[in-house]
Amino acid sequence: MIDTLTIKTTKAGHSRLAETDYTDLPFGKVFTDHMFVADYEDGEWKNFEILPYGPIPMSPAISALHYGQAIFEGLKAYKQADGGVSVFRADKNFARFNKSATRMAMANIPEEVFMQGIAALIDIDKAWVPAEENYSLYLRPVMFATDPVLGVRPSSTYKFVILANPSAPYYSKPLKVKIETHYTRSAEGGVGAAKTAGNYSRAMLPTVEAQAEGFDQLIWTDAKEHKYLEESGAANLMFVINGKIVTPEVRETILDGVTRDTIILLAKSMGTEVEERRVSIQEVLDNIENGSLTEAFAVGTAATVTQISELTYEGKTYQLTDPATRTVSTGIAKKLNDIRYGITADEFGWNW
Ligand code: PMP
Repeated sequence: MIDTLTIKTTKAGHSRLAETDYTDLPFGKVFTDHMFVADYEDGEWKNFEILPYGPIPMSPAISALHYGQAIFEGLKAYKQADGGVSVFRADKNFARFNKSATRMAMANIPEEVFMQGIAALIDIDKAWVPAEENYSLYLRPVMFATDPVLGVRPSSTYKFVILANPSAPYYSKPLKVKIETHYTRSAEGGVGAAKTAGNYSRAMLPTVEAQAEGFDQLIWTDAKEHKYLEESGAANLMFVINGKIVTPEVRETILDGVTRDTIILLAKSMGTEVEERRVSIQEVLDNIENGSLTEAFAVGTAATVTQISELTYEGKTYQLTDPATRTVSTGIAKKLNDIRYGITADEFGWNW
């Protein structure tokens, strides 16, 4: 039984929509007129509000800034073929949000706060949901620790905020990637499966270094032996080997991607076999060399499917197939987009 939240609404005096250029929307920079906020205090969630998007006054001592109790999610709302707006698989992002919260010793959020917060924000800012082909409204729920105390312990107060950005189609040229064998993103017993701020900051220097070497992105390998492939940047990794999709199995070092899960379900429904298991670097290199590996791609909410054109391991570069020939991943990506925009029947019940 989900309770109905009472949400206090303060409308923005002036909408910025008319002066927003939808032909120039850099990712994550343009925010809609409003945001949803809630506070966790004295063991309960309260102060549910829709406010004009803007600064939130805060003590510089809040523990999120010092010790990193901060988690977030990323999901999208799509303008439907029939004119409505639908959010894709929000239940999965909700579940992952609380999984991240639990791992970071943070308060969990009730389903009605997460879902009704999203619904209220979309409702007030629905004019911002782009109708242009392949555009969407990106939703960013975030929770952070707000105890103004410099003690290393779980905060007793948290703030939950939902922001929204109108997003242009994510143009993703095929990536040249480096298999990273020194730095690690996550290790057994760590927080790799949580969508927590520190996982992104720790990835920045390795990524900047890879970019300085001419790569677009890196592929993380397991922390113990650097023998198994894990994720690509901030996306999950998939290959087509002998016609089957092969993808690293979800474990505590890997983020359980919603797009990954969606593509696996769609692939199976379209008759493509899927193997979820550990994938070694050697297996991938061998299958590139013998011609069995026909597709390599990264999957995530931002770009859906990003093709990988080149892999470099220990200084040796392996050319992959021409991305234009990759029918397995592009066929699934097309079906996924058609479901998201309400063009094809939503047989899995993913649109909310
Ligand atoms: N791995 C990481 C580390 C990510 O940040 C993301 C993006 N959320 C993904 C994988 C892909 O997840 P999703 O499909 O849920 O966006």
